[in-house]
Amino acid sequence: MKTYVVVGGAGFLGSHMCDLLIDRGDAVLCVDNLVTGAKANIEHLQPHERFTFIENAVSLSLDIDEPIDAVMNLASPASPKDYFRFPIETLDVGSLGTRNCIDLALRNDAPMLMASTSEVYGDPTVHPQTEDYWGNVNPIGVRSVYDEAKRFSEALIMAFVREHGLRGRIARIFNTYGPRMKPDDGRVVSNFVVQALRGDPITIYGDGSQTRSFCFVQDEIAGLVALADSNVVGPVNIGNPGEFTISELATMVVDMTGSRSRLVYEPLPSDDPTQRCPDITMAKELLGWEPTVDLAEGLQRTIAYFSSIDAGATGN
Ligand code: UDP
Repeated sequence: MKTYVVVGGAGFLGSHMCDLLIDRGDAVLCVDNLVTGAKANIEHLQPHERFTFIENAVSLSLDIDEPIDAVMNLASPASPKDYFRFPIETLDVGSLGTRNCIDLALRNDAPMLMASTSEVYGDPTVHPQTEDYWGNVNPIGVRSVYDEAKRFSEALIMAFVREHGLRGRIARIFNTYGPRMKPDDGRVVSNFVVQALRGDPITIYGDGSQTRSFCFVQDEIAGLVALADSNVVGPVNIGNPGEFTISELATMVVDMTGSRSRLVYEPLPSDDPTQRCPDITMAKELLGWEPTVDLAEGLQRTIAYFSSIDAGATGN
């Protein structure tokens, strides 16, 4: 049994990571300030003797005295809607929060997983994106609070790897979806599914020709844990290379829910990337990991989840 500190553990990704670690027999110290995370995501784990929840803002401190075996830094608002609302907090958690995680990992000579993002590639001019591509990011645009915070956190990890032998592990996460996304999360999969269940208009931003590659949450978490448990510093892309236009996604969701929703077109947010698809050769070769759930199956499970929490109740 190992003790993992999961920072951001009450969030969408974090809570699924806590599940995986508890299920396989490890102990979890789950740290979250509940800004975008929710206690409801970890309610089922609270009675477990190997699970401890600590309400704490990692940007301020991460003082854990007991010995730990790994630090998983999943703390950050991740939906554009959330980081537009919490721009300073997003910059703080990517910089100060990451620094506090690094210090804890170093004190314990423990590996530290950094949840970075495909957003480090910005609006990419290389397609699909390989880890050696440096990206195309607007450093002062509205998305920069997230993109640059994550780019800074990667730079910080690499400096500590070089200077202090930090056992850093950098994952670049591509669009992830599934149960426990908030109905009002703002990201495209939850928006479309909830809108379809309610019979509300499906809001396509721009003309819907932009692409994303969607990874089901349990696949994503398996990849992140495989990286944390490996000797690979990375960065390593962890995502599903199945690439879809936003219009294709809208059609799939409408068909699968049998919804009578119509499609409406709204302005594209600024600096919205036009295409995104991971090259996952490194993850396959170095971690033996690849996703197993395709978009149709993952959407089915996500639709079932939103139906089960009655997300379609109003307006339908
Ligand atoms: N999007 C959309 N309708 C929505 C929400 C998002 O068309 O209701 C688009 C958004 O403009 C982007 C893509 O879907 O092109 C993915 O957006 P999301 O916020 O899920 O993640 P991102 O990859 O932009 O961080």
